[in-house]
Amino acid sequence: MNILVVGGAGYIGSHMVKMLLEQGHCVITYDNLSTGFRDAVLGGEFVKGDLADAARLDETFRRFLPDAVMHFASHIQVGESVEHPARYYANNVANTLNLLDAMVRHGVEYFIFSSTAAIFGEPEYLPISPFHPRVPLNPYGRSKWIIEMVLEDYERAYGLKSTCLRYFNAAGADPSGALGERHEPETHLIPLVLQALSGRRDSISVFGRDYDTPDGTCIRDYIHVTDLCAAHSLAMKRLMRTDASSCYNLGNGQGFSVQEVIDAAERVTGRRVKVVDRPRRSGDPARLVADPRLAEKELGWKPAYPDLETIILHAWVWESLGLPSETRRHVA
Ligand code: UDP
Repeated sequence: MNILVVGGAGYIGSHMVKMLLEQGHCVITYDNLSTGFRDAVLGGEFVKGDLADAARLDETFRRFLPDAVMHFASHIQVGESVEHPARYYANNVANTLNLLDAMVRHGVEYFIFSSTAAIFGEPEYLPISPFHPRVPLNPYGRSKWIIEMVLEDYERAYGLKSTCLRYFNAAGADPSGALGERHEPETHLIPLVLQALSGRRDSISVFGRDYDTPDGTCIRDYIHVTDLCAAHSLAMKRLMRTDASSCYNLGNGQGFSVQEVIDAAERVTGRRVKVVDRPRRSGDPARLVADPRLAEKELGWKPAYPDLETIILHAWVWESLGLPSETRRHVA
């Protein structure tokens, strides 16, 4: 199959490209390299292009005739989205509409969309099922929820079939050590803890110890990036087989607090990290834990790396051995 992976040079997209290539698909990465890395795309065709550029999209669709599109190219920082909502609506909404319109123009029917737990807002119950009310609290969550609603309308009007995958906390790295997380600037907990443990940073900040959780720090559901990609692959197969659009929550169904993540990272690395307590980060719900049972049942998805220490170990291998040397300047 010809699969167009938009944002294939980013963290999750690059792991997806690798998996699709291993499965024997023809992969075309479309990425503007604004936050991704060309050397993270381990094979297939590469088109440097922007989603705002309809002509470039048309040329790409004409040239490669994709059977399906996976869309990973979005802005992902909640805090930034509050400060600069225009950026989020321009990229996550308007640019995604450009992509969907190109799909409609070229008769490509199947779309796998990277959505987020942020569409649910403050949870009314836990674990969060795919049918939990959608009340996003910030422009990032809203931008993703808008596209989920657009997809319903596009299916009705244009027959475009889609699967929305709501990620909880993507983490870890390819078990081979070939790929990993490389955000600049990095804002996610696990890579930041590991950078502090490797000596690239002085300390790790804990944003709030006064949450209503057993140790006072926020609880999240960390899911291995390879397991996320496996879910995409299964979702694409099911979508093409059944023609039935759907939405799934992707997590392990188990929550760990910020302090538990730090403790686990110290155990995995055998090192100690300096912890600095800071005020709460705005917009952080106390607990986010997925109910992944619908994905397990309908996709036959079962995470291969549900264990937090394994997730951290793979990220540590990347942090200590995999990262390009110029990025690793300060490793102890
Ligand atoms: N967090 C933290 N220190 C950091 C980065 C994150 O305490 O340096 C906390 C953050 O407040 C949240 C959890 O770790 O409760 C996970 O945050 P992350 O940014 O990794 O993912 P998010 O849940 O925002 O998608």
